[in-house]
Amino acid sequence: MRNKIVAGNWKMNLDHQQGVSLFSEIVNMVKDEVIGHQQVVICSPFIHLHSIAQLAKGTPGVAVGAQNIYFEEAGAYTGEISAAQVKSTGATHVILGHSERRAYFGEDDYVLSKKVDAALKHGLIPIFCIGETREERESGRYFEVINEQLKKGIFHLSNEAFENVVLAYEPVWAIGTGLTASPEQAQEVHAFIRNTLAEQYNQDLADGTTILYGGSCNPKNAPDLFSQPDIDGGLIGGASLKSRDFVDIVK
Ligand code: PGA
Repeated sequence: MRNKIVAGNWKMNLDHQQGVSLFSEIVNMVKDEVIGHQQVVICSPFIHLHSIAQLAKGTPGVAVGAQNIYFEEAGAYTGEISAAQVKSTGATHVILGHSERRAYFGEDDYVLSKKVDAALKHGLIPIFCIGETREERESGRYFEVINEQLKKGIFHLSNEAFENVVLAYEPVWAIGTGLTASPEQAQEVHAFIRNTLAEQYNQDLADGTTILYGGSCNPKNAPDLFSQPDIDGGLIGGASLKSRDFVDIVK
């Protein structure tokens, strides 16, 4: 039975106080909802991590993650934050490979593969994002693009290491645009990803890997998306900033 996860990606929003308030509201509203193999993970800016990880203590199924790390261990890397530093806040997850990091900060597959290694080395679960641009979808190349991102970013991992990875399919054309992939479009890619995992590793690992959908997910479209056989939850941007919407998606 694989984990079902709804993760919030707050991106660069909320000051410290606002983050703490929103997180407290969310915890209060979901604490009786999250059971068994279900998890809620809030990925906040670094400045909130310690405070909200403290608030998450004692609420099983609610966890906290970062949105980035640097791959070096420590040292003269002004402005960067290491996996060990994130881990020391009480965070357990980290989003890696988000299309905004790839596009605006030039993170390529090689850098991402090193970040994945750094995360796993320090016991952080990577939520590894993959997805095609609008042009790549329209040209029909999307399977190829996703395959490459998996191969270069994460397929260097052993079976054992891969068991600690969560994947997120986020078509770039659907992120923050209000254009959601249809349940059929998303399911098609999720099934492709799971087959690719079975080929690269084995069927058990493929069946056990949580694959989230992300891109303009909201309380209206979440039920149809999440009821697809290979969609195990969502990575939620805009709608994770409103407690009611986010909690409706969780429900
Ligand atoms: P969105 O963002 O839900 O606002 O489209 C999703 C994401 O970027 O993870």
